[in-house]
Amino acid sequence: MRMVYTNENAVLVNHAKNILENEGISTFVKNEQAATGGHVNFALMELWITIDEDVQQANDLLASLTSAPTDKEWQCSNCEEKNDISFDICWKCSNEAPD
Ligand SMILES: [Zn+2]
Repeated sequence: MRMVYTNENAVLVNHAKNILENEGISTFVKNEQAATGGHVNFALMELWITIDEDVQQANDLLASLTSAPTDKEWQCSNCEEKNDISFDICWKCSNEAPD
């Protein structure tokens, strides 16, 4: 068994679980109660796979979840040209970048 993903957000963990199970990978979720010292409890959920050999495929499938969405360019609303995020105006038509 291997842990392949962990997050305090149950929605994200369940989403990851669905991705793996759609590919036929057997998974289970562990809830680990954090040490709270009297504060509000939160459960850090862990997603595990039961078959170690699936770990590479699982990591590949989950890579899209753990890497931030690409945010390096914006699309011009006027000419639909893609511009680097550092540009304030479209290099092609000088339209202003969206905020
Ligand atoms: Zn443009």
